[in-house]
Amino acid sequence: MIAEKMKPYLENNSAIRAMFEEGRRMAALYGADKVYDFSLGNPNVPAPDGIKKAIEQILEEEDPVFVHGYMSNAGFPQVRAAIAENLNRRYGTHFTENNLIMTVGAGSGLNVCLKTLLDPGDEVIVFAPYFLEYGSYIRNYDGVLVQVEPDTQTFQLNLDDFAARLSERTKAVIINNPHNPTGVVYSEETIRALAELLKQRQRQYGHAIYLLSDEPYRELAFDGAKVPFVTHYYDNTMVVYSYSKSLSLPGERIGYVIIPDEVEDSENTITAATIANRISGCVNAPSLMQLAVAKCVDAEVDLGYYDRNRKALYEGLTALGFTCVKPEGAFYLWLKSPAEDEKAFVEAAKKYHILMVPGSSFAGPGYVRLAYCVSYETIQNALPEFAKLAKEYF
Ligand code: PLP
Repeated sequence: MIAEKMKPYLENNSAIRAMFEEGRRMAALYGADKVYDFSLGNPNVPAPDGIKKAIEQILEEEDPVFVHGYMSNAGFPQVRAAIAENLNRRYGTHFTENNLIMTVGAGSGLNVCLKTLLDPGDEVIVFAPYFLEYGSYIRNYDGVLVQVEPDTQTFQLNLDDFAARLSERTKAVIINNPHNPTGVVYSEETIRALAELLKQRQRQYGHAIYLLSDEPYRELAFDGAKVPFVTHYYDNTMVVYSYSKSLSLPGERIGYVIIPDEVEDSENTITAATIANRISGCVNAPSLMQLAVAKCVDAEVDLGYYDRNRKALYEGLTALGFTCVKPEGAFYLWLKSPAEDEKAFVEAAKKYHILMVPGSSFAGPGYVRLAYCVSYETIQNALPEFAKLAKEYF
């Protein structure tokens, strides 16, 4: 008999699975080039050449016992040092290898942070819409998710509602910048205001409130949008990063958590997080990938590829009459459903072989998400189909 706690996941899992199966079924029926699948955040840009070269070089030149062996649960010290040095250069921080823990992607990084921080019943505030796995991760440690309602004008952080949700029980707050699913980038002004509010409440409640900044899309910002580096604004920040999107390595499961010295009781917190990484069963992040990303710390994302897609999709859809949040970051477009029930809109789109994710999958009903990490041709070929779809509504 499976655990009661797992039962609700079975139902939810079948919905996600159904979408995946739908894509495969349509591709088999109509041909993959006649299906416009905007459902998955799986980068279409290949990993940089440097990654392949780094892996080849590591396998050729390094001792296999070292490459494939266990190491510190926080990861190879020289890998953490190389990443820390790169971050210090880019963001004017002063991290050392001791501030970094290599993790099995951002998903695992968030779990490491929450396992380190949460006692049962502790509240974690998230801003809707949000990456729905946050709820699962919080429940893993018997935390309680508290949801802030969106500011549907801007989809920036709704700080008025946030102020009302903060309480003595708040242990942590999760933000994600650039943002999945809206494509919004939180401005420096927004981050500063968030930090001020948190500082004030920490003083009022007399305990730390941790800000978990989930940043798998950090480098994916367009039109010169700046993504503020949150540790500069608020001491009790943990940064969660992943190479899944920036280096197109989602299946390789590699990322890290930063816990700065400024975090309260930082030494114990870093040790606890390193243990959390171990006892979650991950033990350590994949060794070959750690060594490979360390060799590619200066590799850059092909922003031009996503930018071309972003412009084509945003301009194409708004010209057809759809209302979209102008995406500034990540590779998602957040479109207001022209039907009141966005699930009906998603169903209607399937007639034209267009696959999108309903906003309710991100606690954002009334909207749909399109992932534009697809080929440019997919967007070009999808727009005439969107035009047919638009005719049903406008
Ligand atoms: N956080 C957000 C906002 C994401 O969109 C994703 C993946 O799509 C993750 C975390 C998990 O990333 P990873 O593949 O590194 O576990």
